[in-house]
Amino acid sequence: MESFLAFLECPECRERYDAHQLQTVCRCGSPLLARYDLERARTTLSPDLLADRPADLWRYAELLPVQDPSQIVTLGEGGTPLLRADRLAEALGMSHLYIKDESGNPTGSFKARGLAMAVSRARELGVHSFVIPTAGNAGGALAAYAARAGLTAHVFMPADAPPINQIEVRLAGATLHLVEGLISDAGREAAAMVATEGGMDVSTLKEPYRLEGKKTMGYEIVEQMGWRVPDIVLYPTGGGTGLIGIWKAVEEMAALGWIDDARPRMVAVQAAGCAPIVKAFHEGAEVSQPWPDARTLAAGLRVPKALGDRLILRTLRESNGTAVAVSDDAILDAQRELAEREGLLVCPEGAATLAALHQLLQEGWIAPHERVVLLNTGSGLKYAHLLE
Ligand SMILES: *Cc1c(COP(=O)(O)O)cnc(C)c1O
Repeated sequence: MESFLAFLECPECRERYDAHQLQTVCRCGSPLLARYDLERARTTLSPDLLADRPADLWRYAELLPVQDPSQIVTLGEGGTPLLRADRLAEALGMSHLYIKDESGNPTGSFKARGLAMAVSRARELGVHSFVIPTAGNAGGALAAYAARAGLTAHVFMPADAPPINQIEVRLAGATLHLVEGLISDAGREAAAMVATEGGMDVSTLKEPYRLEGKKTMGYEIVEQMGWRVPDIVLYPTGGGTGLIGIWKAVEEMAALGWIDDARPRMVAVQAAGCAPIVKAFHEGAEVSQPWPDARTLAAGLRVPKALGDRLILRTLRESNGTAVAVSDDAILDAQRELAEREGLLVCPEGAATLAALHQLLQEGWIAPHERVVLLNTGSGLKYAHLLE
């Protein structure tokens, strides 16, 4: 299984970079995207060939950046179920509702996908030490994969991040730096450490490969639906990597000839107390403005300004999607509803997508017969401090 990785490309100025050297962002400041030789992949790879491979995200190895399989650092990430939610669908008057349930990933959230990929590829390129700012789960995932690889990690996290995230980082032997403020403040401190002491900054979209890990959700959803795209994907959006990644996967699958012309409408779901993407989308802006005084119990959504905001907003518009903000009360109600109707203990970020579904059904933006996928990005067990 040979990777078809060809080069890195700036989606804004189209500048190309060598994918076999360590890269960060484009000279123009934009994130870089990994590009593959899809023409060649198209002639050698097919959905049939994938059928017998193990059910983790490495089954898409040709479309991932790692060149030498012995460099893969894995805890068994990916291969999560796409669950039909029939009882919930019936209550909502819908006919096709699915939940992509990421709670079974190592470290209890889908951050495992991105960090497994970033750590594997960085190790392959000679990195020994990582630095990350995080709202919580990404730090836990980095600490776990760094431990698994025998490498060093420094995690910068808001002091009020969920307690479990602090514990999992310390237990895995990473160095935890608690920061007064938000992930944006943690980002500044992390960048300062990289500048003085070195180490690789694996912030969301400051390197190209966490996105490649998260895009595998797109491949999985489409494969699990029999190589058809859903009509709508509702995604709880912080940094937006998963939303950009799922859309990137859909575009790659189209170039590979694996799907027809249908495209999902992508929906960014944010918390009312931190909704910079929702605001920018409805104002018709191309970039977001930093959200002042960001507040929500959905820690993963507490991102006042996403580095990939331009890409997120473009994806929403290209896909004929939309952006929705939901209150923390609606999130907690939706969390209970998912537990009662489907037996799922979802994270608040995942519950936000159900709260948004209620709104979009009411507005008529989603029709009852449409095939809708909710992303549950992590386990509610990581948020036991919110549950009673
Ligand atoms: C990080 C995180 C999110 C947001 O993901 P992005 O891809 O950064 O938008 C959502 N849910 C959970 C549980 C997270 O940890």
